[in-house]
This record gives sequence, C-alpha cells and structure tokens, in this order.
Amino acid sequence: MSTPSFSFAPIELPESASRLRTEVREFLAAEQKAGNFTPGAAGWSRVDPEFSRHLGARGWLGMTWPKKYGGHERTALERYVVIEELLVAGAPMRGHWAADRQLGPLLLEFGSEEQRQRYLPEIAAGRCLVAIGLSEPDSGSDLAAIRTKATKVDGGWRVEGRKIWTSLAHRAQVTSLFVRTEPKGENRHAGVSRFLVDMSSPGITVRPIINMTGEHDFNEVIFDDLFVPDDMVVGAVGGAWSQMGKDLAYERSAPDRWLACHDLLLQTIDRVGPKPDIAQSEALGRLVAHLWTLQNMSLSIAGMLEAGANPNVEASIVKDLGTRYDQEIPQIARTLVPEHMRGDPAHQRFEESLRHNLLFAPAVTIRGGTTEILRNTIARALGLR
Ligand SMILES: Cc1cc2nc3c(=O)[nH]c(=O)nc-3n(C[C@H](O)[C@H](O)[C@H](O)COP(=O)(O)OP(=O)(O)OC[C@H]3O[C@@H](n4cnc5c(N)ncnc54)[C@H](O)[C@@H]3O)c2cc1C
Repeated sequence: MSTPSFSFAPIELPESASRLRTEVREFLAAEQKAGNFTPGAAGWSRVDPEFSRHLGARGWLGMTWPKKYGGHERTALERYVVIEELLVAGAPMRGHWAADRQLGPLLLEFGSEEQRQRYLPEIAAGRCLVAIGLSEPDSGSDLAAIRTKATKVDGGWRVEGRKIWTSLAHRAQVTSLFVRTEPKGENRHAGVSRFLVDMSSPGITVRPIINMTGEHDFNEVIFDDLFVPDDMVVGAVGGAWSQMGKDLAYERSAPDRWLACHDLLLQTIDRVGPKPDIAQSEALGRLVAHLWTLQNMSLSIAGMLEAGANPNVEASIVKDLGTRYDQEIPQIARTLVPEHMRGDPAHQRFEESLRHNLLFAPAVTIRGGTTEILRNTIARALGLR
C-alpha cells in the first residue's frame, strides 16, 4: 500500500487576519443594527443582492484577485477569515457565492482576457449571480455522462439539452455550463467544454423545483437552440475536464461545509442554559471539539491554497467530516432540547433553525459531491483503490 498522500499542516493566522476579523465583526454589527440583514434559520444560504453589493464595496469579494480585475490582492487566509465571520453571523451570501468562490478563480486561471475583464469586476462588486450547470437527469456524480450537446455553427455553438438541480438559475445572470462538444469516445472525459451562458439569451427555459424546506432554490433548465458565441467558451474547446481542481477544493473545504448549522448549535447552547447536566455537557463538548478540528483543517487548506497547492483530497476529507457534523447537530439539538421545552416564544428561533436544518440535512451529503464520491477520492489517495 502506498503512503497516505495528504496532510493538514497547522496554520497560525497572521496579525493582519486577526485585525480583519475585528473589522468584519464591526461591519456585521453595524449592518444588523441598520436592519440590512437579520440572522435566520436559512442563514448564509439566502440571496440578498444589496448585501452582496455592500460586501463588494468593502472589498470583501474577489479578495485575492489582481486589482486590475477589481480584486484586492489579499491573502487566502484573509479571505478565509472574512468568510468564516460572515457565515457565523448568518449573513446572506448566496447572491455572490458561486461567482466569488468558483467562477472567478476559474476565469482567472483559464478564462480569456476579455472574459476576465467582463466578469471579474462585476463579481468583485457583488453584481453578478452565477449558477453552475453540471448535473443532468441521468448524470450527477458521473459528469462524463452528460448529454447536453453543443454543435458548432458560424461564430459559436448551438446548445440542446437539459440540466437539473441548478441552484439559483432563476436569478442568475450567468450560468457556467458543462456541455458535450464532441461525442463520447474512449476517453470519456474528453470532448466536454465549459460555456458562459448569458441567462437572458433566447432558448432557455427555467422551471422551478421546490426543495424539502419548501423553498425555490434549484431548477430544471432546458436549452432549446440556445446560441453561445465562440468567445464564451472557457479555455480550450473539449478541455473542461482539465479545469476541474482548485475550484472543487474551494467548494469542498470552505467553512460553509461545516458552519451550515452553526446558528442551531448556538441556539441549542442557549436553550440548554448555563448549567448543563453531564449528558448535555458531553454532547455539546463533543460538537464544539469537532467544530475546532474542522476549523483548523479548513484553515490548513486555505494555507495550502495560498501556497499554490491543489488540496483536492484534503478538501474531500473536510467535506465528508463537515457533512457528518452538520447532520449530527439537528439530531443532537432535538434530543437536548426536547419538545416539551420548546413551547414559549423564546424558543421560536431554535424551533425554526431546527426545522430548517432537519429538512435540509439530506441535501448536505449530496451537494458539492456525494459522500461516496468523496470517499472514492480519499480511498484513491490512500492507495486503497
Ligand atoms: C442542495 C443541492 C444543490 C445543488 N446544486 C447544484 C447546482 O447548482 N448545479 C448542479 O449542477 N448540480 C447541483 N446539485 C446536484 C448535485 O451535484 C448532484 O445531485 C450530485 O452530484 C449527485 O448526482 P445525482 O443526484 O445524479 O446522484 P447519482 O450520481 O445518481 O448518485 C446516486 C447515489 O449513488 C452513489 N454513487 C454514484 N456514483 C458512485 C460511485 N462511482 N461510487 C459509489 N457510489 C456512487 C451516490 O453517492 C449517491 O448516493 C445540487 C444538489 C443539492 C442537493
């Protein structure tokens, strides 16, 4: 068996990052006081375009990007601190999330100069909501099986096909779309390209899918004779597979993968009160120990990204552990604060948080790569497959 090929080096946050943490906390307190957001059960996963623009104006989107693209040339560790504080506060982040975290870094690495100049300043200003069109009815984990097809025409491509579970496609200005530009051959991963699709183009139908919490978050998206100009292909035609990497590491290891239920954890600690019994102390102590560990692992990945590494395996481990942690919190909260303790209005926020997180729990094992797929990645790195 080969030697395990992953590691989590401890990271010491620099003084500048700690100062920034204080600055973010002050900003969030002022935003809350001004009524610009209220923390709620759905926490960071709400869309608030105005709040996204406020963050852009503070320089907290596109933080690590070059200034010439609207970025701020700050470090991955500073970016980490800002994101962690926003998540803990339950600030609405979905309006800029995929743009800032996935599409921006992707365009910096693989996009054309024109694409960078067109999209990056908009993303950094909090003015661009991006959807990610990967999954199809018969292809989720196995992305190479996609059937959405693009055919070459004069000046661009004609797209036909159907995507599913496309988060926020109904509000997005742009979708980062995976399409097959060549029929599947022996190399299943060849012939897949990534297009930037302007969602106001003719030939796109977005149909809502209501999730278990009752919210309209994801969609089915149908492309019927959609025209995508040549200059909206990201990187080489047929080369989308080789672009997968760091954007997945960002997606899988960021603190949202283990802070989704943070509001519920805090509410539970509040409801249990200052004199927990042994069982309550043990259960809450265990959760807080997990929280500390996940924070340090996630921070370590931010350090690796800062050093230019591609910590895909470490990110898969964080996502797997974070998923289990996020699913444990509602189950433990439910037993620590039993129903007969929840009647009075003081418990309303706890009740809402519990309901939301119980109903959302199954989704966390699926979005951003299912648990089994992540474990396949980890097993390969351990030489077990
Ligand atoms: C909240 C949420 C938001 C989402 N947002 C988006 C989005 O914005 N854009 C987008 O494109 N998609 C999105 N998705 C879709 C998500 O990425 C897919 O659902 C996911 O990739 C799984 O694909 P699938 O549903 O087709 O399941 P399948 O791939 O069919 O998997 C079914 C089961 O089989 C297991 N399995 C599959 N292959 C293997 C294997 N090789 N080894 C072991 N087990 C395996 C899986 O782990 C799973 O348990 C979202 C999903 C959720 C829940």
